[in-house]
Amino acid sequence: MASSGLLTLTERGLYCERGDFFIDPVRSVERAVITHAHSDHARPGMKHYLAHRDTVPLLHHRIARSISTQSVEYGEVIMMRAVAVSLFPAGHMIGSSQIRVEADGEVWVVSGDYKRQPDPYAAPFHPLRCHTFITESTFGLPIYHWPSDEIVVDDILRWHAANASCGVASAVQVYSLGKAQRLIGLLARHLPLTVSPAIHAANECLRAAGIAVAETSVLSNATSQGMLLRGLILASGPNDLRDIPAARATGVDMAFASGWTATEPGRRRNAGAGFVMSDHVDWDDLHRTIDETQAEHVIVTHGFSAEVVQYLREQGRSAQVLAI
Ligand SMILES: [Zn+2]
Repeated sequence: MASSGLLTLTERGLYCERGDFFIDPVRSVERAVITHAHSDHARPGMKHYLAHRDTVPLLHHRIARSISTQSVEYGEVIMMRAVAVSLFPAGHMIGSSQIRVEADGEVWVVSGDYKRQPDPYAAPFHPLRCHTFITESTFGLPIYHWPSDEIVVDDILRWHAANASCGVASAVQVYSLGKAQRLIGLLARHLPLTVSPAIHAANECLRAAGIAVAETSVLSNATSQGMLLRGLILASGPNDLRDIPAARATGVDMAFASGWTATEPGRRRNAGAGFVMSDHVDWDDLHRTIDETQAEHVIVTHGFSAEVVQYLREQGRSAQVLAI
């Protein structure tokens, strides 16, 4: 990356020298601006964390009570030396943010992880204009195209009913933070939900922060067979159900809700039923977003960056890969 740029890649992560801060740093730094609370973006060991108001409780929950944090609202401008920093919704999960960095009229935007589909608990993605856009590309291939939530919910309900009619319980394995709450928001009005202790802990953290996550039961040895068959289980790991007596008695069909299930190798890897649901942009939304930024230069990271850069260059755009 050009050294005159507002952000440069260092061994500690993406650095703004003029503002003296890092975005989602990978090693210990003084000042970290955090896009969202997933562990590959929010790591322990920073002197000071700045993040959106809804991300801060999750940082304390996942990293430590004692860390030093500053919470900001979307659109609020924080001056870091002569650099104006502001956060805007990324739509990826609760509190997820794009980071807008401006100095002397030059604007860079770091997308973090993002999606354009609606989410019951994440503020909708906010398109921003900028000179340089740093975008993720987790699913940056034309084969990735997401169905609507309505289609996925219908598929899950049909699969659940078929299992229940055979006396088998249904579980969907998801990330405990983000995807789990999205599914709770979509499914709680259709089925009673029983969640793993890890998902329950994340829900309780969010509820304590004033976010109204729908009511769920916690999976335990006391969970009844009737409850498991009537409702849907959200698990955060393959072993969550191993020692639950009711689950052993009924048998459980374990499915996955992930963008990776959109392709044959992804389906094979996960073995059970797969529901195509991702908290990242698909191919069309990735390029729609790049167009909306009107960026003169696009920097692509996290995923199929070489393929996306090649495509952008073929379209006459200035683009490069950034291997964070
Ligand atoms: Zn993420």
